[in-house]
Amino acid sequence: MISPVLPTYSRADLAFERGEGAYLTSTEGVIFLDFGAGVAVNAFGHANPRLVDALTAQAKKVWHTSNLYRVPGQEKLARRLIEATFADTVFFCNSGAEACELAIKMTRRYQFASGHPERNRIITFEGAFHGRTLATIAAGGNEKYLEGFGPKMEGFDQVPLNDLSAVKAAITRGTAGIMIEPLQGEGGVRSADRSFLRALRQLCDEHGLLLVYDEVQCGFGRTGKLFAYEWSGAVPDVMAIAKALGGGFPVGACLATERAGAPMTPGTHGSTYGGNPLAMAVADEAFSIVTEPGFLGHVERMGLRLKQRLAELKDSFPTVIDEIRGQGLMLGLKLKVPNSDFVNAMYREGVLTIVAGENVVRLLPPLVIGESEIDVAITALGHVAARFAAAQP
Ligand code: PLP
Repeated sequence: MISPVLPTYSRADLAFERGEGAYLTSTEGVIFLDFGAGVAVNAFGHANPRLVDALTAQAKKVWHTSNLYRVPGQEKLARRLIEATFADTVFFCNSGAEACELAIKMTRRYQFASGHPERNRIITFEGAFHGRTLATIAAGGNEKYLEGFGPKMEGFDQVPLNDLSAVKAAITRGTAGIMIEPLQGEGGVRSADRSFLRALRQLCDEHGLLLVYDEVQCGFGRTGKLFAYEWSGAVPDVMAIAKALGGGFPVGACLATERAGAPMTPGTHGSTYGGNPLAMAVADEAFSIVTEPGFLGHVERMGLRLKQRLAELKDSFPTVIDEIRGQGLMLGLKLKVPNSDFVNAMYREGVLTIVAGENVVRLLPPLVIGESEIDVAITALGHVAARFAAAQP
């Protein structure tokens, strides 16, 4: 018999009742250190008092009004995002996939409005993940996610990551833009080289294409900069964000330059809930936290410390850990043993971690973790790695 909840996830037999900071308490009263943060969502820890206050204060005023009217919270947060980034305009939505959908629509519409309706294809990268809508599964190109869902949406040409000549070869008179995660999450914590991003920027300028970043997972402080693209200096024309933006309240956004956003005139896009007052109250407070002096420096320091400790583990257990990947607090352990077995063993140590592609275990702790939480995670990782090593012939 089918489960009451549609069985699209193979879920761990764990449920949580409450959380505080980097810790979650299960319904059975067991405390877990959360090094997954709801897949990079709970960046400010669980039950962050500032976010709780922002949400509850807004909940007592007004929850929802509709995008038929002005939403002051959207106007305020859009201005703050614009000041902090390349962007001139922002659309608020509810999720990462929706933000990516709009990025795709906007890229096509920009070319259409520029007199190039034939330019409607987007170059994407192997290992990409942009969401689970029909357009975003086509953009991601993962056969597992496409199977059984009818004709794959046309208009995406996929090439290997960091392969500039493949990108050049894929550009045709039908190309509208290039869409890339500066640091892939689901694909296995794989970085786009900084020089590669700069070369993509140049190619886009030469060919009249839009450069689209998907920073749904790697953005909003996760790598130690507000947005991961800042490490390369190569700015996009359009960028999708979500996850940490709401710290656990569902919200996404698509940021764009004036040039890219201008063709999105009234009636071309919309969302009932997108950017509603509750979401904006939380995201505005999240933005205040992430941009506070010292916050991103803390992420960078903790990221370096965690990466250093992981490198030591790799040296101690070379038959278990193959490679350390990632940046800031978006780190991955590429393993020589099955990653899902490793994640299951970490549950038994009381630490939540997450699998990713290429047999990687992802570490995505709340950005507010301190050295003691890193110590706890490293001890648990060390125990699990030692057990796998001992079991090897
Ligand atoms: N893009 C990236 C890079 C992601 O990591 C994800 C989700 O993991 C998405 C898009 C889709 O976001 P959502 O699940 O909120 O639709």
